[in-house]
Amino acid sequence: MIERSVDGEPLLLHQTAGDPEHDYDPAWDYELDGPPAPALVTIARQAAVQVASVSGERFALYAANLHREDVLARYCDGTASYPIILLDFDAHAAACRHYNVPLDVAFRTTIGHELGHALQEREDRDSDEDDAEAYAARLEAKITG
Ligand SMILES: [Zn+2]
Repeated sequence: MIERSVDGEPLLLHQTAGDPEHDYDPAWDYELDGPPAPALVTIARQAAVQVASVSGERFALYAANLHREDVLARYCDGTASYPIILLDFDAHAAACRHYNVPLDVAFRTTIGHELGHALQEREDRDSDEDDAEAYAARLEAKITG
């Protein structure tokens, strides 16, 4: 399922079965510097599978550089029918060191948070950080509870 990153394109980490109803390719707008550490890829893939399982949502997850935007992760606006979510591994590693949070927890909660933004868009609600955070916390509670 993992496709190798070529020419610095974002690396596909997880893709729920089913065809997207859009053709957005994050390689149009984002890139990745070299292949990420296999251990990080494994943790991110497990996180995606867990979030997909408890949320029941389809989505695709990619590793990509987001340092220009200075964020940990991003939901790509306009992809709500089949959300495209990007994770920045370096930003996660730095944040996990800074806040002393395990990487698997950080990956799951950021994926859940971005998925929350996708649901807001799909349901025609305004983008709301608190709502996205609460959605991520509910998913995390299902995973760890
Ligand atoms: Zn947010």
